[in-house]
Amino acid sequence: MVTTPRVGVLALQGDVREHAALLADLGAEVVLVRRPEELATVAGLVIPGGESTVIDKLSRIFGLQEPIRAAIADGMPVLGTCAGLIMISNELVDGIEGQQTFGGLDVRTRRNAFGRQTESFEAELHVPELGDAPVHAAFIRGPVVESVGRSAATLASLPDGRVVAVEQGSLLGISFHPEISGEPRFHQRFLDRVAARG
Ligand code: GLN
Repeated sequence: MVTTPRVGVLALQGDVREHAALLADLGAEVVLVRRPEELATVAGLVIPGGESTVIDKLSRIFGLQEPIRAAIADGMPVLGTCAGLIMISNELVDGIEGQQTFGGLDVRTRRNAFGRQTESFEAELHVPELGDAPVHAAFIRGPVVESVGRSAATLASLPDGRVVAVEQGSLLGISFHPEISGEPRFHQRFLDRVAARG
């Protein structure tokens, strides 16, 4: 029997709708997660791009920080894009005073790493784990993974070597926005992780 995976998009702030639409296109049942009760009903979570300082603050106000940390520790698959990558990084550089992350990924991530002059750009990335076709990646004030710890693996880098996609077990973190460039393979990989967990 084929079951429809029920997954969440953290819907506190950011480009929630684009992720929800892409996941629905891929056949998932999508729940917008704003409360712990909603988190408890999903088998995986997408943390969207937006502003990590705001997502951090709202997740604490809404009582979601601890439940999300617990779910990550329990092995729940998570896809974090851009601000979402920041949120699942164990270490953050250039956050604002007091900024916290959920953590989980054994990486050090630098916020706003591309600076003001190059706030947005696009690039073709080679991601061997996703097949031969290049990934068209849109970077919007994105972070960069400065250091990849022993538990995590690099999935994609820019031509200059800067790491922009990492994976660790069921956690997937990427600096860019596949949901706005029509790239479904990261979300499919996330859904495969959810399905594999049963
Ligand atoms: N600069 C944002 C942050 O610090 C991330 C940008 C994005 O998610 N598009 O959270």
